[in-house]
Amino acid sequence: MYEVEQLIDGAWSPGGGDLTVRDPADGQPVSRVPVASPADVDAAVKGAREAAPAWARMAPADRGAALRRAADAVESAADRLAEAITAEMGKPLEGARASVDAGVGTLRQYAELGPLHRGAALAGGADTVDLMAHEPRGVVAVITPWNDPVAVSCGLLGAALVTGNTVVYKPSERTPATGWLLARLLNEYLPARVLSLLTGGGEVGAALAGHEVDVVAHVGSTAAGRSIAAACARTGAKALLENGGSDPLIVDENVDPQWAAEQVALGAFANSGQICVAVERVYAHRATAPQFLAALVQECHELRVGPGRDPRTDLGPLVDRRHRDHVHAQVTEAVSEGARLLCGGTVPEGPGAYYAPTVLADCTDEMAVMREETFGPVAPVMVVNSFDEALSRAADSPYGLAATVLTADWEHAQRAWRELPVGTVKVNAVFGGAPGGAAHPRRGSGQGFGYGPELLDEMTVVKVGHLAQPPH
Ligand code: NAD
Repeated sequence: MYEVEQLIDGAWSPGGGDLTVRDPADGQPVSRVPVASPADVDAAVKGAREAAPAWARMAPADRGAALRRAADAVESAADRLAEAITAEMGKPLEGARASVDAGVGTLRQYAELGPLHRGAALAGGADTVDLMAHEPRGVVAVITPWNDPVAVSCGLLGAALVTGNTVVYKPSERTPATGWLLARLLNEYLPARVLSLLTGGGEVGAALAGHEVDVVAHVGSTAAGRSIAAACARTGAKALLENGGSDPLIVDENVDPQWAAEQVALGAFANSGQICVAVERVYAHRATAPQFLAALVQECHELRVGPGRDPRTDLGPLVDRRHRDHVHAQVTEAVSEGARLLCGGTVPEGPGAYYAPTVLADCTDEMAVMREETFGPVAPVMVVNSFDEALSRAADSPYGLAATVLTADWEHAQRAWRELPVGTVKVNAVFGGAPGGAAHPRRGSGQGFGYGPELLDEMTVVKVGHLAQPPH
């Protein structure tokens, strides 16, 4: 059992407390966690504020070196972190380990990029110095989700810290021990009070987001992101929001239906569908749809659902039963509205929060499973008559995170890239992309760059200097 501690004003609090996290594989208790009080939030922000000037004055190369050492420590503890991820949110161990490695890579990238994040000299007069320089914003609240807890946190923490901000970190209440282990490792290499850790649920996140911080960097649901944006409008803090999605995937005519099914199975079922850029709705061209659907159902039958600790497992459980209820409610509602269940869609007997990969055919635009984020292993499919129809239905969404198009037609690929109103368009590959790719999410999916070198810009403000000579 993890007895999670908070890090407030440079001191670790006693561990354990009010919240218990249960292993979604078997319901056994995994972590005991304190819930931060309003006084804890006050003290953490005050400590971070006081520590900010000295950390901001440290040479960027020294901050980068500290982050590099912290990344080495996280790498050495990767197995322990991966075990905590699997125990708290169910992800298969191998995938959990890969996501810790991704987090280590991100920390190292920011350790190198931070000192290179330079400003510009301006073309002023011969007797003046004119320049633009980045400065840290001050105190950054980093509020993170449970679905990829180490990788997502490492990005925001790395970029905020290396640019000279102090951080108050609030990991998800569903993966608090993972956040605590990560914070312990990082804190070893940072001056006191540069990093604080608060634990608890949305109410703690809301108290932090409404406090006197300079940036609230939130990765999580659209509903929480909207309430954070409102809090930031009141305090004047910058809101950086990477939120939910309902990513479409288009299966064009003339693509190999078996390959299309493999792409959809990967996009919709990896991490049991609990990925921000998971495939959430599929538009299949009428010419390809029958073979594609048959192949997709076959893919489902080949996937093994089980505990994340079992190396044979493809799909671990969902994060908890509350989330499974949400996923199952969308599936049963779609079926009651006329969708055809081709596989999955039932809640298994026994312990844990398992849910089989599910395929729904004959879906319509109005169904919640097509309009809202499901965040589960569900592939709802609508058959379309043309690429034009697929494109316009794919574009019609309250979200704007990412989209995938499977096509052999170069003109269709170009149109998809230009016309879809989302941050990222992927053609013929459901995941992947060049390192450093960072997009602006749109509409309900958030605002600002949450990734890549551009995140360093988000974490800093630019100051212009015009330094003239005094009169002789
Ligand atoms: P969530 O928003 O419920 O929780 C995320 C964090 O926000 C948690 O720490 C939580 O305690 C906190 N929180 C909740 N309500 C809050 C409020 N009112 N004010 C301040 N903080 C609050 O999201 P989740 O369920 O943990 O994560 C899943 C969601 O995250 C999905 O919607 C997924 O798409 C999204 N996500 C997005 C990205 C991205 O890059 N766009 C990446 C990963 C996950």
